[in-house]
Amino acid sequence: MLIYTKQSVPMLSVQPKGKQKGCAGCNRKIKDRYLLKALDKYWHEDCLKCACCDCRLGEVGATLYTKANLILCRRDYLRLFGTTGNCAACSKLIPAFEMVMRARDNVYHLDCFACQLCNQRFCVGDKFFLKNNMILCQMDYEEGQLNGSFETQVQ
Ligand SMILES: [Zn+2]
Ligand SMILES: [Zn+2]
Ligand SMILES: [Zn+2]
Ligand SMILES: [Zn+2]
Repeated sequence: MLIYTKQSVPMLSVQPKGKQKGCAGCNRKIKDRYLLKALDKYWHEDCLKCACCDCRLGEVGATLYTKANLILCRRDYLRLFGTTGNCAACSKLIPAFEMVMRARDNVYHLDCFACQLCNQRFCVGDKFFLKNNMILCQMDYEEGQLNGSFETQVQ
């Protein structure tokens, strides 16, 4: 499933005479001589900007990315999109913008972040352990240490 749509470069065009277009960003009429056309809507040159960093997307060569009503510049798109990956527990893809849990280099769905032996969920401040790439609660970790059921792993 494609989550983001890469849109073509916004077009700067001269406002047609007669009726003024409304800006999709600020909802006001565009009184300027030039307007931007992007996503099948019209924008003030200043109103078409990235939802994250506020950079203007009407510049020459700018590419914009959208998700629902969110418009992003390429850099933020890559930053947000690039940080999520596959969940280390269920190995399904984690969509961008979804909250994730992190443990070392691993990312997890919020729902998947639980002790993989007893399924206990962790609250903020709870201790968890990563052993043999499994998330463990303190109890299971200590029990495993005692039983020697973990292979020795170089940390
Ligand atoms: Zn506007
Ligand atoms: Zn941005
Ligand atoms: Zn998952
Ligand atoms: Zn446990």
